[in-house]
Amino acid sequence: MTDDNSGAHDTYECDALVVGTGCAGLSAAVTAGHHGLKVLVVEKEQHFGGTTARSGGWLWIPGTSLAKAWGIVETPDQARTYLRHEAGNSFDADRVDAFLTEGPEAVDFFTSRTSVHFDMPLTFPDYHAERRAARRADAPW
Ligand SMILES: Cc1cc2nc3c(=O)[nH]c(=O)nc-3n(C[C@H](O)[C@H](O)[C@H](O)COP(=O)(O)OP(=O)(O)OC[C@H]3O[C@@H](n4cnc5c(N)ncnc54)[C@H](O)[C@@H]3O)c2cc1C
Repeated sequence: MTDDNSGAHDTYECDALVVGTGCAGLSAAVTAGHHGLKVLVVEKEQHFGGTTARSGGWLWIPGTSLAKAWGIVETPDQARTYLRHEAGNSFDADRVDAFLTEGPEAVDFFTSRTSVHFDMPLTFPDYHAERRAARRADAPW
């Protein structure tokens, strides 16, 4: 995306420089902007969105207000135990604790302070055979 007219050699000032326009970058950018910082987002590709733009958009964040409103009980200890089993030697206790604490707060931030809206589908068979079995006989797909 660099040519002589692209502005690539111009100087910009910002409080927060965000690299990448996937969910990580844009979440950081929106949050920093909300806190009054002047944000600059840079993207190396011609299109915004990164891998995020192609993702299914499903989140697993235990203990959100949305889950609680549906009566879904997921204690931090249950989630920690699950992640410990899944992550094996890669388990990082500090990161997991941060995820379990900050994740629900992040969801609350986006649902209460931005126009982001999350649905709460109660089932998501992540296993294709189950997914096929879950399809209704008259489903068009
Ligand atoms: C088909 C598919 C379905 C998925 N479904 C789900 C799902 O349902 N739920 C889920 O949790 N996860 C899902 N994932 C995984 C999820 O999409 C990724 O983990 C997530 O999008 C990563 O987000 P990110 O912001 O870290 O990176 P990205 O979305 O990849 O964004 C990174 C951005 O940074 C840019 N960039 C990189 N280097 C530079 C640089 N030097 N300068 C400027 N820009 C740069 C890239 O071009 C890109 O735009 C799915 C993935 C795929 C492929």
